[in-house]
Amino acid sequence: LENIKKVYNMGETQVFALKGISLTIQEGEMVAIMGPSGSGKSTLLNILGCLDRPTGGTYYLGGEDVSRLNKNQLALVRNKRIGFVFQSFNLLGRFPVLANVQLPLVYAGVGKKEMADRAKEALDWVGMSKYAHHFPGQLSGGQQQRVAIARALVNNPSLILADEPTGALDSRTSMEIISVIQRLNIEKGITVVMVTHEKDIALYCRRLINVKDGRVLGDTPVSNPRNAAEDLAAIPEEREAL
Ligand code: ATP
Ligand code: MG
Repeated sequence: LENIKKVYNMGETQVFALKGISLTIQEGEMVAIMGPSGSGKSTLLNILGCLDRPTGGTYYLGGEDVSRLNKNQLALVRNKRIGFVFQSFNLLGRFPVLANVQLPLVYAGVGKKEMADRAKEALDWVGMSKYAHHFPGQLSGGQQQRVAIARALVNNPSLILADEPTGALDSRTSMEIISVIQRLNIEKGITVVMVTHEKDIALYCRRLINVKDGRVLGDTPVSNPRNAAEDLAAIPEEREAL
């Protein structure tokens, strides 16, 4: 990103959400973005994810300038290279799990058989293949987020963006989800950029970017990033009350 700016026009008034952000994220990094509410984190993630265009500045994604592309071109880039995970899971409640995971492939025009195979593979990878025919409303929050991660990775993206992926989850379930996200990064080599409000969660990333008031206030490596799988193994399984 080179001097990225984003202005929202709200009738008479303008909101300067990003005021000139410059940063480079290398392939294979796992980065946390923190900052107060309203500081521009989601705006930044939306631009990184080609969901929205900057008002000014240049965004190079894998060497290609994507900051001047039109909406259709942006959608193509998104479908090819980017996966999203949100706080509220954003699954479609009237479709079963398998159909939710297949959705990005429908947009990409993949054939039926291949679509089902790849969706099953993604569900298997997040440990959710048993639930392929359940509906999202029949799953716990953590299970829904695993399905959302399967949907995010079904396209083989090179970049996964997560906006508060553990914001709606209890602490053990959060750790399970962070462990899956860490595996995406380590085992699949996918670049991960994750917005979080929790410092504890940021410590599982290898780099921490602090945003305030539309600007980067700090950008530091995390010394000794924590390993979620190890930490998870140390937490005793919850037992049902007698
Ligand atoms: P939070 O931690 O609460 O999610 P955030 O850091 O993600 O906050 P943004 O959602 O990026 O913050 O918002 C940055 C600024 O831009 C805020 O002042 C917000 O009100 C404004 N803003 C965000 N989206 C829009 C929009 N679609 N239209 C107008 N203003 C917006
Ligand atoms: Mg936000």
